Order: sequence, then structure tokens, then C-alpha cells
Amino acid sequence: MEKSDAIVLRTIEFSETSLIVTLLTREFGKLGAIAKGARRPKGPFESALNLLSVCRIVVIRKANDNLDLLTEAKLERRFRATELPGLTQQQRLNRLYAGYYIAEMLRLWTDDSDPHPDLYDATLQTLKRIDGDAPLGASVLAFELQAIHLLGHGPRTDSCVDCSAPMDHRSPNFDKKTVTFGLLEGGVLCDRCSPNHHQTVVCSPNALQALQKGLCLEGIPPETFTPANYSELRPLVSRYIVTMLGFVPRMSRFLPTAVDV
Ligand SMILES: [Zn+2]
Repeated sequence: MEKSDAIVLRTIEFSETSLIVTLLTREFGKLGAIAKGARRPKGPFESALNLLSVCRIVVIRKANDNLDLLTEAKLERRFRATELPGLTQQQRLNRLYAGYYIAEMLRLWTDDSDPHPDLYDATLQTLKRIDGDAPLGASVLAFELQAIHLLGHGPRTDSCVDCSAPMDHRSPNFDKKTVTFGLLEGGVLCDRCSPNHHQTVVCSPNALQALQKGLCLEGIPPETFTPANYSELRPLVSRYIVTMLGFVPRMSRFLPTAVDV
């Protein structure tokens, strides 16, 4: 038997009384487990196994592709986006969908039994922002950049991803109004190389700096993004993620179009 902190990423009804759950655990990474009796009114898990709940679990790990057996889940934190005071129904819904998006991304992005405690902590912090009063769009974007970095998918931003020529867009002498970002190559392209590449996005040096800041271990506070940065980076990061995954995540169309929605 193993113990871990876990965030519920998905629940599927299984038989009359049980659930199959996908969990992001701090200690073991993502895992799939069966929770027997979880659908009974007074079952052993009470109400711990709701989407995006944080719980302390006890699990029996199984070999190969078999589902683990969840024997205990104690609720530590509930995702409360729909109960936030002082918001309109639509604002609550936006926050709920943003939470669903985070859960979807974590399911798509992480592998089973590949622990990333930093990513777990970043997720927890982001859930608190989403069902708190942090700017929603910026909170999700800050999380995505941090996750991209933590999972080793960070794009190259300081030199051309094709020819390695330095691209010092932070220097005061940088005189270009735009920088080309290659989605397929995963990084910036210099003026010489950019005409040879497809699937490119143009962004301002300022937005690129914000992107670069966000690609770090600790993440950045959502307040770092200006509305202008956000309106450039939201589509860029979405397209980058689609290029990485090879398809459009289901919940991505519900992402806020402005920094503070
Ligand atoms: Zn180049």
C-alpha cells in the first residue's frame, strides 16, 4: 500500500457502485485506479472523488497496465469555482471550464507513473488561483508556460532554433518590431531562416520576453502579463500546444480571450 497526495483529473462510472479515476499524484505521477464502492451514498470515499478535488489517498499499485486499487481517499480541498461569491454565472462558468482545461491538459501531457512533484505543486497553486480571485486568463497562461518548461517542452527563445544565431530581443539595441516564432521547430527564427519555415507566428519582443519569463521552475505571478502580452501569447501558446499534441484539446475553445476575464 502506498500513500500520496492526489488531484482528481477524471472520474468514469464503473458498475453500479464503483468509479474509475484518473489521478495526478505528487509521488507517483498520473495513475488510473478503481475505487470500489465510490458511488454508494455512504461509500468509503465520501465525496472526495470529484473532478479537481485534492485528496490524500491510499492505493495498491498493480503491475503492467492494470488499474491500481484505490482503498482510501480523504478530501483535503474541493474545487469551488461554481460557488465563488460576487461573480456572475458566466464568470463562474469560465472558471469551471478553465479548471476542466487544466485537468484535460494534465491527462494529455503527463505519462503514467512519471512523477513531477513540481508540476503537482504548480497545479495546486493554479487551482487556488482559478477558484480564488486571480485574473483567470493570465493564471491559466502562467500555468501552461510553467508546465511546458517542467515537462521539458520549452521553446528556444534566445537564439534561432534553426541556425543558432543569437536573438537578443532583451537588449536595448534590439531594433526589430517583431520576432518570428516557429511552431514546428519550437522556438524563435532569425530573419535569414524564417522565410524557409512554415507554421510560424509573429510576435512582439515584449510578448516574447513575457513568454520567456514564464518558462521557469517557479512560474510567474499571473499579474506579470499585460493585456497586450496576453492577446499575443494566448493564441501563440494555444497553437504551440496543438502542434505538440497533434490535435486541439477539447476545452481549449473555452479559454478566456482577455487577460482578466
Ligand atoms: Zn537562423
